Amino acid sequence: MEPLFETLLFDHKIYHTKMPGHTPGPGRVFSTLIVGSEKALLIDTGYGIGDYKGYLEKLTDKPLIVVNSHGHIDHASGNCQFKEVWLSPLDYKVADIHTSLENRQRSKDLEGYEDLLIDGTYQRIPLHEGQVFDLGDRTITAYACPGHTEGSMMFLDSLSNYLFTGDNITRRVVLLGPVIGGTTLPEFYEALVKAESLNCAGIIAAHVPYIMEPSWIQKVKGIVEGFDPTKGKSPVINFNFQIPGVKPMEYTVGKDFDDPNYCGFVFDANHIDEFLGKKEG
Ligand SMILES: [Zn+2]
Repeated sequence: MEPLFETLLFDHKIYHTKMPGHTPGPGRVFSTLIVGSEKALLIDTGYGIGDYKGYLEKLTDKPLIVVNSHGHIDHASGNCQFKEVWLSPLDYKVADIHTSLENRQRSKDLEGYEDLLIDGTYQRIPLHEGQVFDLGDRTITAYACPGHTEGSMMFLDSLSNYLFTGDNITRRVVLLGPVIGGTTLPEFYEALVKAESLNCAGIIAAHVPYIMEPSWIQKVKGIVEGFDPTKGKSPVINFNFQIPGVKPMEYTVGKDFDDPNYCGFVFDANHIDEFLGKKEG
């Protein structure tokens, strides 16, 4: 049987672990462990499949701090394996809906893993911009990065200077807008400007199996600046969610996921005004 978890070891003791589940796209979903001299910090917990905590104990024996980049099904469903998890309160509601056992049992992402689903309770600690996690020889600072969800966060590591961006700055960002728990495009743009000002050395995103160049932020910014809803494409590659009332289209450059230059975002063509911040969602 294939191992449930597989880890890519980046430099500076960063472990990018491919989590079980069927997220569309070649990258699947990764949780990331950053190991310091005194403590370790884990970003995201996957779909809640199998004994991930036991797996982590083989990677580090340091006391663990657990945070979520946001509250989605493939990032926060394993939280119940840990005593406490830091998450933006703006994503509590989305996490309740996404990570419930019933929702996961219904999800196509978890087909074949039904017998390995874990569930339980844990304590949430409200995560806000400016929170600093001291790991000993390095600190990790949290910044709000709204767009993909209202409560999306990014994390800057003082040692590697890498920026961990979850689903919010990635090869293709899902921006379905304020009607279903995301933000407007101008708010997302502000988050990109903030990310750019951090002058990071590389970007580690939750669905990408390598460290992205910091210039990717400028690339996404350029695409947002040039956004033309009439040039949206459908069907959206590797995106098979059905959300009532939502018409997903992609505004992207490049051919498909295998094209390294593929970049852009998914938007909801039924709610353009709300997305552009022109009327209350
Ligand atoms: Zn997400």
